[in-house]
Amino acid sequence: LEDHGTSREEERKARVPLAIGLKSKRQKRVLVTGGAGFVGSHLVDRLIERGDNVIVIDNYFTGRKENVIHHIGNPNFELIRHDVVEPILLEVDQIYHLACPASPVHYKFNPVKTIKTNVVGTLNMLGLAKRVGARFLLTSTSEVYGDPLQHPQAETYWGNVNPIGVRSCYDEGKRVAETLAMDYHRGAGIEVRIARIFNTYGPRMCLDDGRVVSNFVAQALRKDPLTVYGDGKQTRSFQFVSDLVEGLMRLMEGEHVGPFNLGNPGEFTMLELAQVVQETIDPNAKIEFRPNTEDDPHMRKPDISKAKELLGWQPTVSLREGLPRMVTDFRVRLFGDTKSNAD
Ligand code: NAD
Ligand code: UDP
Ligand code: UDP
Repeated sequence: LEDHGTSREEERKARVPLAIGLKSKRQKRVLVTGGAGFVGSHLVDRLIERGDNVIVIDNYFTGRKENVIHHIGNPNFELIRHDVVEPILLEVDQIYHLACPASPVHYKFNPVKTIKTNVVGTLNMLGLAKRVGARFLLTSTSEVYGDPLQHPQAETYWGNVNPIGVRSCYDEGKRVAETLAMDYHRGAGIEVRIARIFNTYGPRMCLDDGRVVSNFVAQALRKDPLTVYGDGKQTRSFQFVSDLVEGLMRLMEGEHVGPFNLGNPGEFTMLELAQVVQETIDPNAKIEFRPNTEDDPHMRKPDISKAKELLGWQPTVSLREGLPRMVTDFRVRLFGDTKSNAD
């Protein structure tokens, strides 16, 4: 076994000078799976801005061409309609693997498809990374901690996850995806990076994706009551999308595998969030209580000490600063302006 490992390592090292030589002469080729989605499209903007050659693959389940339409025609950008559950042959240097519905409403819509995306889709992208020697970054989730018994959650916590619940297709799916990434790393020497993302919001979120920030903002703008599920005392931490993208890029470029929590440690109850939305949009917005969904985690807040120390990263945009930027985008999209991709 040791011999096997050593020869693989040698093989990998032997490839490095060639790769560096090539990279210095040409642009980085970066694959973003799920790049037409909310987070993916903001990441694509930054990569294009940096001068990379970007390929997006997306099946448009929750993503939209509109999110990346401003890059169409740019020779450094390519958009491919493809489902990651099917194999694909591409030549790239880095893979940001985001393809997977993120909103509970979307991932519960077809749970078996969600599992396939997380397991088979991730396997295919790791197989691709192995074939071409690309670095692979997995966007995992704070949901791997389940309904956590440790608060705040550090990366060392193994989680409290229901394996047979309605959220399992997503949280167990992401746990398997992390396992696959680590097994390809250990077994095949693939350079992997794992991010555990906490609730993120910002422009280009689907208007009706059922997540709490997009729901509250759309409801307040439409003069509908804000729907608070349960007693509204459950907590979440909300990160603005530009902070996340910065964290993902630092993680990809850095030397550490992770996993790393990427989230904003500010913690809010859903009632407090409703209050911030009222202050930002409409102080007269009403609140309506609804029964909570099954298996809803009671609290969630990242411990980001590891990302601070090893990636030199921490969020810079507070909820009160970030929310108005999202409101501007939602207003434009809800009330029919043409500048629908402004951020
Ligand atoms: P999103 O739904 O906006 O984006 C996901 C994208 O993946 C969409 O464009 C969708 O069409 C595409 N997709 C889904 N299944 C696919 C498949 N089988 N093949 C190809 N494309 C597929 O969600 P997002 O918020 O941008 O999330 C991006 C990633 O970050 C996801 O992997 C998600 O699990 C993770 N994440 C997000 C959050 C958050 O709060 N936004 C939190 C934790 C983890
Ligand atoms: N794969 C892919 N693109 C590639 C290389 C592999 O989609 O460029 C897929 C491949 O079809 C397989 C998966 O990735 O289903 C895992 O590939 P790997 O080579 O690791 O395993 P194997 O094919 O030996 O099962
Ligand atoms: N939630 C809410 N009202 C809504 C949507 C969600 O009170 O209209 C609550 C939900 O019960 C959960 C929290 O907001 O406690 C965050 O839910 P979301 O779906 O945004 O993401 P999650 O963190 O559960 O993945």
